[in-house]
Amino acid sequence: MPVSFYMVNIMTTQSKHNFSLEFFPPKTAEGTEKLRATRQQLATLKPEFFSVTFGAGGTTQDGTLSTVLEIQREGLQAAPHLSCIGSTREKIGELLQTYRDNGIKRIVALRGDIPSGMVEVGEFRYANELVEFIRTQHGDWFHIEVAAYPEYHPQAATAQADIANFVHKAKAGADSAITQYFFNPDAYFAFVDEVRAQGVDIPIVPGIMPINNYTQLARFSDACGAEIPRWLRLKLQGLGEDTASIKALGLDVITSLCEKLLAGGAPGLHFYTLNAAPTVTSIWQRLKLS
Ligand SMILES: Cc1cc2nc3c(=O)[nH]c(=O)nc-3n(C[C@H](O)[C@H](O)[C@H](O)COP(=O)(O)OP(=O)(O)OC[C@H]3O[C@@H](n4cnc5c(N)ncnc54)[C@H](O)[C@@H]3O)c2cc1C
Repeated sequence: MPVSFYMVNIMTTQSKHNFSLEFFPPKTAEGTEKLRATRQQLATLKPEFFSVTFGAGGTTQDGTLSTVLEIQREGLQAAPHLSCIGSTREKIGELLQTYRDNGIKRIVALRGDIPSGMVEVGEFRYANELVEFIRTQHGDWFHIEVAAYPEYHPQAATAQADIANFVHKAKAGADSAITQYFFNPDAYFAFVDEVRAQGVDIPIVPGIMPINNYTQLARFSDACGAEIPRWLRLKLQGLGEDTASIKALGLDVITSLCEKLLAGGAPGLHFYTLNAAPTVTSIWQRLKLS
């Protein structure tokens, strides 16, 4: 398909798409300052919302709340991630009430992963139970996002079981989904087709991981089960420590991926910013999203 087709498609349907940006809560005063500066730059792109991750089992949880409230005070829409593993109904209930009291309207509802050393699974086993809990306690107050895995969750018993679990979770009351990152658009389109055939019609927004650093990307991908295609892995490896060339290649690869996704009907894009503005801004500009 010619590039011009992609660009026309993106430009004409831009207003219907949802673009969002994800941060992690900083752990230091310096990190907090850096994130403020990053946010100021990224706010100019006018994303629909900023989401903030949440550490299952204790780590970074206060940081999520304070970061979300700061974003909200700045007049921007903030969506806390909330992972339920290792927690109780009481604790999750209190946190939801705090968010509601502060005018937060969107939650990314997750199971999370049990941190090593923690033995208590808690009162929720899977994210569908959290979705049901939020709906029971708060009706339609929150827009609930859930996670989706076009290349399947690393702990899935089978691909079919993972799809069935996603369908179950979506039907428990999710409003939309954000995917784990991936580099193969066909995996995303096949996933969407399969869940649509099973009656799920919520928007499924691709999660996009910018490429800046091969070692870090390989580590993340091994942990979360996102496949780096052989051609891309070898090309990145071949660039060694040449950071500028890695970033240039990454920009081309990710921009092209986003173009294909939007042209193929993806309802938006969710960028994993890793609390940095430049690469996401460059991709955004290349896609002519603002
Ligand atoms: C967009 C996005 C944001 C994320 N943000 C965070 C974050 O902020 N903090 C964090 O800790 N982690 C985060 N994660 C990672 C996520 O917590 C992990 O991938 C976790 O292992 C699964 O969470 P989930 O909500 O997808 O779980 P679930 O939907 O519960 O699925 C987990 C596994 O259990 C299986 N399963 C689901 N339901 C059932 C069931 N009823 N019976 C049997 N098996 C079932 C699924 O097939 C899957 O293998 C994020 C992931 C994504 C994609």
